[in-house]
Formats: sequence, structure tokens, C-alpha cells
Amino acid sequence: MTRIAIIGGGPGGYEAALVAAQLGADVTLVERTGVGGACVITDCVPSKTLIATSEAMTSLALSPRLGVRFGGGSRGGSGGGSGGGSDDDTGSVAVDLAQVNARVRALAKAQSDDIAGRLAAEGVTLINGSATLKARTGSAHRVEVTTADGSSDGIEADVVLLATGAQPRILPTAVPDGERILTWHQVYDLEVLPERLIVVGSGVTGAEFAGAYQALGSQVTLVSSRDRVLPGEDADAAAVVEAVFTRRGMAVVNRSRAAAVERTSDGVVVKLDDGRSYEGSHCLMAVGSLPNTGDLGLPEAGVRLSSSGFIEVDRVSRSSAPGVYAAGDCTGVLMLASVAAMQGRIAMWHALGEAVHPLRLSTVAANVFTDPEIATVGVSQKAVDEGRVEARAVKLPLGRNPRAKMAGITDGFVKLFARPGTGLVLGGVVVAPRASELILPLSMGVQLGLTVDQVAQTFSVYPSLSGSITEAGRQLMETHLD
Ligand SMILES: Cc1cc2nc3c(=O)[nH]c(=O)nc-3n(C[C@H](O)[C@H](O)[C@H](O)COP(=O)(O)OP(=O)(O)OC[C@H]3O[C@@H](n4cnc5c(N)ncnc54)[C@H](O)[C@@H]3O)c2cc1C
Repeated sequence: MTRIAIIGGGPGGYEAALVAAQLGADVTLVERTGVGGACVITDCVPSKTLIATSEAMTSLALSPRLGVRFGGGSRGGSGGGSGGGSDDDTGSVAVDLAQVNARVRALAKAQSDDIAGRLAAEGVTLINGSATLKARTGSAHRVEVTTADGSSDGIEADVVLLATGAQPRILPTAVPDGERILTWHQVYDLEVLPERLIVVGSGVTGAEFAGAYQALGSQVTLVSSRDRVLPGEDADAAAVVEAVFTRRGMAVVNRSRAAAVERTSDGVVVKLDDGRSYEGSHCLMAVGSLPNTGDLGLPEAGVRLSSSGFIEVDRVSRSSAPGVYAAGDCTGVLMLASVAAMQGRIAMWHALGEAVHPLRLSTVAANVFTDPEIATVGVSQKAVDEGRVEARAVKLPLGRNPRAKMAGITDGFVKLFARPGTGLVLGGVVVAPRASELILPLSMGVQLGLTVDQVAQTFSVYPSLSGSITEAGRQLMETHLD
């Protein structure tokens, strides 16, 4: 029986544990905070739960356009949060942040308990403690575990999987205090909605929180060091989201680097490196993540790290040390829960001698949970523009889609990329409410090697937002070139 030790119980670790246990291995998983990892306890699950409430607020805010009136009166009114800023006004609708956050924390705990229960049912041994990897002496690896009560023990393993995740990057001049200057781990302890929230960082995390709090009723300022919000995303998509943000009253401060964040008597001041400053009631720092690889004993155990501290792995999750695999955010390959889970599963299939397909990043679907959402798969517009990929593209604004018109959706589009000649679907971008649900047909197109003709001939429901996907396929059909 192969003995497997897994360090870290996030999606990289727990999905691997399930696969290994199902394949008959003897699996021990060591987790120091909570099963489910940062994904379930502090990052993905809590943020998307908070966003579920912000989405409800946005639908309320936009519903007067569809003829809904609040309080039986006329549109507008005074007091309370506006749930989405100035797009429309819902009068007295407001969120109870203490209740929202209690729900977020309870849901995260329940999800963590569910995963722990499933692991136990599959026969995985769970240890609550902090682990380090020791240099291999004989045929087995040794993992040293220190439990919460301070006692230590060792685990012998044939295979080790490192899945230790990442944590928020802290700037020395903007150290979070958990009250006014916050990381995304700390926002769920807030009892009252920040009145004037400054979000520093306009990557995916910063943009998602900025949009969510704006919808919940905060006045939000988003400070971005780059030319636009979401600099890593499709530029057309990011422009739509930035336009919606500003239309709803958010102050987006681009090309501005935060130098320091300090407490004032009743709030915070964010100082930019060009001398300007912004005052708010709270500041959320979203300036990236650092891998949890510093205190694991990795170099001594022969595990090579990149200059930024990520564990170097190949496409079947092997590190530079024989028998030591790594998965998830600690590898920096693509910081997504779905990628972490796949890397973990691939590691176990490989270690246990199963047939395995190396990780293919070109097939990964990703989503930014702003309103509207941005979902992407496959090649990017940037790669096409830079001549790295040859592709034909079409972009259909959602404003022309009949279902979108009925629902009052004006922002967003469907973009499709296809290979010239063969018409193979190479990728796509969907900017829409629930784009995360709409991207699947394009993901399947990329994964299964479908052509735009096949997409075009597929029935979509009339009327539906997905009708824009089949229409994009029709517009790219090779027969149209004749
Ligand atoms: C705000 C936010 C929102 C996000 N939303 C999404 C989303 O919607 N969709 C998506 O796909 N991704 C999302 N992500 C990314 C996603 O959360 C990560 O990619 C995912 O958590 C990575 O999983 P992991 O298993 O590598 O690490 P983690 O989930 O971070 O788990 C690692 C675990 O290892 C434990 N650990 C570390 N060191 C040790 C040690 N020495 N001993 C024992 N245990 C240890 C930690 O306690 C932690 O629990 C989001 C990220 C952030 C920051």
C-alpha cells in the first residue's frame, strides 16, 4: 500500500486525498487551519457568498427599470443603501452586514465540515497541525508535524504532496490592523458596512470586492497602479466592467500606486507615491498573494523554488525532488481552485501509476465575479493581437440579444476565437451576468476540439443569452468566407 502524506487541506490537497484514497493508498492529510483551505475558509467560498448578497442588491437596484416600485411609492426616495449606486435607486433597501457576514462564516464552516466528513468517510487520516518536510534519509520521506498542543510527531511516506497555498501580500507601509486596514481574510469580521471603502489593487480580488461593496451600499474608491482595472483580463471586458463601476458611482483611480496606508482618528488615509492622498473609513488591501513555502524546509529537502518562492513543478505536478509533488497556489501555475484541484488529482494519478493527461492551461475556464462577470477560456485577444496565435474573432454585444433586452441587460458581450481554415474553436470571452455559467459551451468547444460550424448548428433556447454563442459561431462559419 503506497503511503501518501499531503501537506495542506485546500482543493489542491483534499481533492488529491480523495483520488489517492479511492485508488487504495494509505493517505494522511495535515492541515493547520481548517479543511477546505483558504479556498473554503477565507477566499473563494466566503467572497462568492458575499457576492451573492451583492448580486441581490444589484438586481433590486436595477429592478425599477423593469417597472418595480419599492415601498409602493414612486421611483427614488431617501435613506439607506442604494444597492448598486446610481444606476437606479431602491430607496430604503439596505444590507445588514453583521447578518451577511454571519451567514458567510457559517457557510464556510459547513463546507469545511462537509469536506472533512467526506475525507474521513474515504479513510483519509486527518491531522490538525503544521507540517514541514525533512531531508530524505532512506527510501521514505519524513514529514514532521507539530500539533496545536505543541507536540510533534513524524509521518513516513512514499510520496509527499505539497499543497500549502498562499496568503495575502502585506506591504510594510500598509500593515493591516483588522479594524480599518484589512486583508480579504479580515473583512468577514466587520459588523457594520464600511461607509467609504478604499480598495487598493485592481486585480481580480480587488475588483470583485470593490464591485461587491459598492453594490452593498459602500462608497468605494478603487486605487489601481495600472492603466485600467483588471489589467490581466481581456481589455474589452475590463473596459466594460470599469465603465459599469464608474457609472454606479465608484471612484476608479488608475495609474496610481499606493505608497502607504495609515489610520486617522476615524478612518484611514491612503497615500499615493505621487503625493496625492485619499481618505476613507476603511481600506482593503488586495495587492496579490505570496506562496506559503517559506517555513517548510523545502530547499533542504531538494525542492527547488522560483525566485518568487513558488515551487517549481512540471505538468504532472512533480517537483525537483523525486517522490515530492506540489499542487495549487504554492506552485503559482494559475491561482484558481479548479487548477489546484486538477494539479492535485494529476499528482496522485501519476504517483499511483494511473494513466494521466498532463495539465493543459489552454483549456482552463476562469471567471471574474464582478457585475457583469467576465468568463474566459482558451486563447486571449492579447495573444492574437501580438501575433502569437492566428485566429479569426467575432464580438457580439449583449445589447442586441433579445433575452438581454427583456431583462434590461445592456452591458456585456460574447467574443469567440476560431482557427482560420479549420474553424476550430480556440477560445472565448463572455461578459454577462452569470458569465461563469455561460462559458461552458466554449470550454467544451476548446476541450473537445469542436468547430464553429458545430457550435453554429447546435440549438440554443430562444430567447437566451447563450443564443449569442451560437450566433457568434454562425458569424465565424468558414462557409461565410466563400
Ligand atoms: C478573495 C479570493 C477569491 C477567490 N475566488 C476564487 C474563485 O471564485 N474561483 C477560483 O477558482 N479560485 C478563487 N480564488 C483562488 C483560490 O482560492 C485558490 O486558487 C485556491 O484556494 C488554491 O487552493 P490550494 O489548495 O492551493 O491552497 P489553499 O486553499 O490556500 O489551501 C492551502 C492550505 O494549506 C495549509 N497549510 C499551509 N502550510 C501548511 C503547513 N506547513 N502545514 C499544514 N498546513 C499548511 C493552509 O492552512 C491552507 O488551509 C480566490 C482567491 C482569493 C484570494
